[in-house]
Amino acid sequence: MNKADMNKIVKYYAQKHRQDLMREKLKNTIGKKCRICASLEGINYHNVRNEKHSPSRYQILKNAKDFVPLCWKCHRAIHFLIRSYKTSGKLHIGVLDSLLVKYLEYEAFKVKQSLE
Ligand SMILES: [Zn+2]
Ligand SMILES: [Zn+2]
Repeated sequence: MNKADMNKIVKYYAQKHRQDLMREKLKNTIGKKCRICASLEGINYHNVRNEKHSPSRYQILKNAKDFVPLCWKCHRAIHFLIRSYKTSGKLHIGVLDSLLVKYLEYEAFKVKQSLE
C-alpha cells in the first residue's frame, strides 16, 4: 500500500468517526425512538416548522427543538398527510387514521407544553 492510499484510508475513518459522534449526539439530544410508533429503526429527524428540509446533521443539532425523531415509515406518512392536507384541504383518513390521531395528540401535547 502506498502512502496516498494510506492517507485516504485514514481520512475516511476520521470522517466516519466524526459522523458517528454526530449521530450519537443527535440521538442523545433529540431522541432515538420514533415519536409516533416508538420504532428504533430508520430514524429520521423531521422538522416540525418547515416541511422542506434536508438539513445537515450540524443544522439539526443547532435547531434541535424544531426536530422530532420519526422512523422512515411514519416520516413518509406524515409528509403524505401534510401534502394531502395542503392540496385538498382535507386530511386523508383511512389506513393512516391511527397514525394521524397519534400525531395530532402529539401536536396538542406540544401546544400544551408551550403554554405551561
Ligand atoms: Zn414510526
Ligand atoms: Zn420531515
